[in-house]
Amino acid sequence: MRYYNFTAEPSQSADDFFMNEAIKEAKIALSLDEVPIGAVIVSNGTIIGKGHNLTEQLNDVTAHAEMQAFTAAANYLGGKYLKGCTLYVTIEPCVMCAGASYWTQISRIVYGAKDEKRGFSLVKSMITHPKTEIVSGVKESDCALLIKNFFLSKRK
Ligand SMILES: [Zn+2]
Repeated sequence: MRYYNFTAEPSQSADDFFMNEAIKEAKIALSLDEVPIGAVIVSNGTIIGKGHNLTEQLNDVTAHAEMQAFTAAANYLGGKYLKGCTLYVTIEPCVMCAGASYWTQISRIVYGAKDEKRGFSLVKSMITHPKTEIVSGVKESDCALLIKNFFLSKRK
């Protein structure tokens, strides 16, 4: 007698699942010839805001994926605070976006690959909200590869 396991796919963790959604946003940026960084904001298991880097399209150096996602999520909630929400972003937030996250009071930040040059963790001072939990390294290689390939293609 044989028993079949109907859960053929290994179950993804929620963090992996939502990081994949952020990677989809990064790929939209890539299709627009933007630096491929994507973000989603999740509340109670639902995506309430999405964003991808739009600095070229909007001619705006502040149009980072996280900033788009913060604005979208606040619009969705009808309030500026993102308590209880999680930001998933493919690359470590910069100091500006980490600073914006402070004002949102977001509960968690999950990022994929580190940004060795501009990531907020380079700054020693407490830049994120003291109640914000930080998780790094989720789907790190996928997130890093998008950026690496983008810049390699620019050098040709
Ligand atoms: Zn940023």
